[in-house]
Amino acid sequence: MTTPETEYDRRKQISVRGIAQVENVSEFKKGFNRHLHFTLVKDRNVATTRDYFFALAYTVRDHLVGRWIRTQQYYYENDPKRVYYISLEYYIGRTLTNTMMNLGISSSIDEALYQLGLDIEELEDQEEDAGLGNGGLGRLAACFCDSMATLGLAAYGYGLRYEYGIFTQRIINGWQVEEPDEWLRYGSPWEKSRPEYVIPINFYGRVNHTANGVKWEDTQIVNALPYDVPIPGYHNNTVNTLRLWSAKAQRSFCLNFFNSGQYIQAIMDRNISENITRVLYPNDNFFEGKELRLKQEYFIVAATLQDIIRRFRSSKFGSREPIRTSFETFPQKVAIQLNDTHPSLVIPELMRIFMDVEGLGWDQAWKITEATCAYTNHTVLPEALERWPVTMFESLLPRHLEIIYVINEKFMDVVRGKWPGDNDRLRHMSLIEEDGGKRVNMAHLAIVGSHAVNGVAAIHTEIIKHTTFRNFYELWPYKFQNKTNGVTPRRWLLLCNPGLADVIADKIGDRFVNHLYELRQLESQISNKAFILAIMKAKQENKLRFANYIQKANNVTVDPSAMFDFQIKRIHEYKRQLLNALHVITVYNRIKKNPDKNFTPRVVMIGGKAAPGYHMAKKIIKLICNIGNIVNNDPVVGNRLKFIFLENYRVSMAEKIIPAADLSQQISLAGTEASGTGNMKLMLNGALTIGTLDGANVEMMEEMGKDNIFIFGMTVPEVDALWAKGYNPKSFYERIPELRQAIDQIQNGFFSPEQHDLFHDIVHNLLNNDRFCLMADYEEYIKAQDRVSALYQDPIEWAKKCIMNIASSGKFSSDRAITEYAKDIWNVTPTDVKLPNPNEPIKQSVKIAN
Ligand SMILES: *Cc1c(COP(=O)(O)O)cnc(C)c1O
Repeated sequence: MTTPETEYDRRKQISVRGIAQVENVSEFKKGFNRHLHFTLVKDRNVATTRDYFFALAYTVRDHLVGRWIRTQQYYYENDPKRVYYISLEYYIGRTLTNTMMNLGISSSIDEALYQLGLDIEELEDQEEDAGLGNGGLGRLAACFCDSMATLGLAAYGYGLRYEYGIFTQRIINGWQVEEPDEWLRYGSPWEKSRPEYVIPINFYGRVNHTANGVKWEDTQIVNALPYDVPIPGYHNNTVNTLRLWSAKAQRSFCLNFFNSGQYIQAIMDRNISENITRVLYPNDNFFEGKELRLKQEYFIVAATLQDIIRRFRSSKFGSREPIRTSFETFPQKVAIQLNDTHPSLVIPELMRIFMDVEGLGWDQAWKITEATCAYTNHTVLPEALERWPVTMFESLLPRHLEIIYVINEKFMDVVRGKWPGDNDRLRHMSLIEEDGGKRVNMAHLAIVGSHAVNGVAAIHTEIIKHTTFRNFYELWPYKFQNKTNGVTPRRWLLLCNPGLADVIADKIGDRFVNHLYELRQLESQISNKAFILAIMKAKQENKLRFANYIQKANNVTVDPSAMFDFQIKRIHEYKRQLLNALHVITVYNRIKKNPDKNFTPRVVMIGGKAAPGYHMAKKIIKLICNIGNIVNNDPVVGNRLKFIFLENYRVSMAEKIIPAADLSQQISLAGTEASGTGNMKLMLNGALTIGTLDGANVEMMEEMGKDNIFIFGMTVPEVDALWAKGYNPKSFYERIPELRQAIDQIQNGFFSPEQHDLFHDIVHNLLNNDRFCLMADYEEYIKAQDRVSALYQDPIEWAKKCIMNIASSGKFSSDRAITEYAKDIWNVTPTDVKLPNPNEPIKQSVKIAN
């Protein structure tokens, strides 16, 4: 490759993104100018960068709609089995670049904008993140949408259109401050509202058992207004739909107020019902039992099921036949996947519709419901498991509570049949928990009402089978399966790291983009000097770009040859950001003790949001910032150690960080992180992992071999044994001098000159109530970090391990994960076949098996 002379030449060289087509370039320029003029009503004298972003987004959108309509028409005509993925969260991030990439028009658009004299990256940076999620669970839903479209499945995502997504995090004087996320301030170019398809949703009221069936009466009604978001597959002309519901007051809302002349009050009260989709609950792995959240959960479920049944009825199999028999085919035409228990009201709501509305008997309704639904468990942390007070159900969803009671009675009979006289077992398995105020255990409901229950990594599935849901596994072993998570290689390699993608494509072609196991071929390049250097160069360029970003965003100058060490994920005690901080303090103390010794320079960066009500997590952020203030301003330390908190970590920031990472910290206590997906993104981008044998780290090690990953700490059985014999965190403090020094510094105010006792609660927890065993894992963690530092001194050896990581990451594609769901749970068939491109004349008609 020659050195590019100009920006224009550089863009021409981008190989994986394809080559600009002259006709397309001129068409895009025309479209762009047309939208600037007719849609934005601006000319180039007054247009802002944001106007240019919108003009570009609408131009790109124009190329989606033909494919979108055609795909949906194709599903209607061929009537394949539909897959419905229901999730309270979709952490989408930005859409523009991803759409151009998946449609295969990136290079032509690049060229068009270049010719228009505009900087495409500046325009791309204008887009607001769609932050309709908290972390891994919501991002998984977004990756799965991408893979379902890429694999040609007739799939639909269903979610909520929160007016406010995950809050914007500001750090003020080291403390997290939350600001509202007004992501819709300028409108979203990607959504299409469908007011003609509103669906009424009932709440409250009472149940009337009559001779001709059960009636749910005197309810309050809120409308669900659908907004459709296109989900393009990669280079296959498929565009699926993500349908997000928005709460809209009924026109007749508070008619009695209108009638009594309180017109103004009645208008103002419309807001109350529209509050249902106002804001995303900002908790990650934590259950907050607020009524508004239960309303959100019922709202998405009721609206989605009405939509699913309407579509089923309008299909070949649902229509024309007598209703009673036609629903028998429902599970052959519909698969519903529950992303955690959040949408598990699907089970009682389906039962209610089948019995109270469609007139089916209990047994038939139950058989269909169970055969249709499948549940994905995402956590074993007890504080995250949903347990709704029966009293809340009674008032908000009285009919559903009745149905849940009947489900439970029949289920308890099954348990009694299998284990006569085992009352302990009955109590542990009941859907209704009795201790301390009655509650509905939503995980138990989801397991009983589903034909498949899956964990999200092999070790996590073993834990739910043998610990969390042991009784259920003993009753129904065949329901339990593993489906290890994955991430989409489109966004998490091709989009975020085109430099690396090109180095890979130069060696093995571009098939890896949707066949990620092809990366295995890179193993044969492990000793190819030129390839090693190309991989190192790609990483170095990404690090330089990120160093510039840090300079601007944090006003910190970092040495781009230092190791870039990242821990990027929600702030949570179980993820052990504090353990990372203890390592930084330890290195700091070593430098101070031996200022003339050689140290591997590191920039340690932590990014992540704390739930607004999670005081300990916010305190941990403050501690990280304060340690950074001491370390970063100590002239003795210089460039050898920096500790930076990255403000407002989110999807678009992850896309900047991950390509620049040397080290990925995945250090949760074994048995607490269900899978993790950040670990996979970083591995795919050639970062080395320091981590515990937790979640998907275990399978990452299996794929790459234990010499290519830095594993430390207790295993799950070792953690269990430690608690069994009695864990005494203080004994570690007393035995390990470096640990003791670090803890003493936190305790005595060394890092909090403004208030000496600021971190006493943190230290108290570590020494007396160390739930996540930081003290027990500290020593091994420091030793593992020392091995990391030593290896970084040998750039070639380091790069070889990077290559082994990339080459071994094929398993962690969400395409692989979705292919397994399709085969083992949904009974549908992925396809590589392309739909015809509606923008081109039809050459031949393509028939796709599904
Ligand atoms: C992938 C991702 C996550 C999940 O990270 P984990 O390390 O698996 O917890 C969270 N937030 C964002 C923005 C992500 O992109």
